[in-house]
Amino acid sequence: MKLQALREEVLDANLELVRRGLVLYTWGNASGIDRQQGIMAIKPSGVPYETMKASDMVLVDLDGRIVDGALKPSSDLATHLILYREFSGVGGVAHTHSRCATAWAQSGREIPCYGTTHADYFHGPVVATPPLSDAEIEGDYEANTGDVIVRRFKGIDPMSCPAVLVAGHAPFAWGKTAAEAAYHAVVLEEVANLALQTMAVNANAKPISQAMADKHFFRKHGASATYGQQKH
Ligand SMILES: [Zn+2]
Repeated sequence: MKLQALREEVLDANLELVRRGLVLYTWGNASGIDRQQGIMAIKPSGVPYETMKASDMVLVDLDGRIVDGALKPSSDLATHLILYREFSGVGGVAHTHSRCATAWAQSGREIPCYGTTHADYFHGPVVATPPLSDAEIEGDYEANTGDVIVRRFKGIDPMSCPAVLVAGHAPFAWGKTAAEAAYHAVVLEEVANLALQTMAVNANAKPISQAMADKHFFRKHGASATYGQQKH
């Protein structure tokens, strides 16, 4: 089967979102891309997770043409495509309506960096998009959702904030692979939950200092990262 490993990874990323309690029913989708071939694999639309197979994943090129697959791709395909086209470091995308991150998205508020759990993965707040206009909603809605994300990241490295809160909707997360995108969706949900609880304990809680935010993010990311075991 064409791109078997990618299909398997994308299937597993989708199942991981369910295992971690981020997706109810079919309210989510994950995809991954083979950059060399310019082909992405995405979850099919509306297929129950219990019976989903790697062969059900739909292969699509970056123009949205189906390369292989008998099923209809996820309805959020156009959003995924734009993220792959515009964010060259992205190799996987995960979309969920996970409870706490969606609460922040519905509020239209970015998640402040209240602690090091957040800072280990997101350098600065988890940003939120502005609401879509009526014309954007009535037009090519899913593509316009991708465009509003891309506009929000003008001047921000998408790999320094591997998730976004789409106002009035829910989060999209991404990573170097489909597995990492799902992982970041899980981390985002935990960070969103911690932020809600931080505000419940102290409504005037302040973000951590820039020095603390920098220390934690750059311990794990970039040229001077020291976290984990040395690679030989
Ligand atoms: Zn959605």
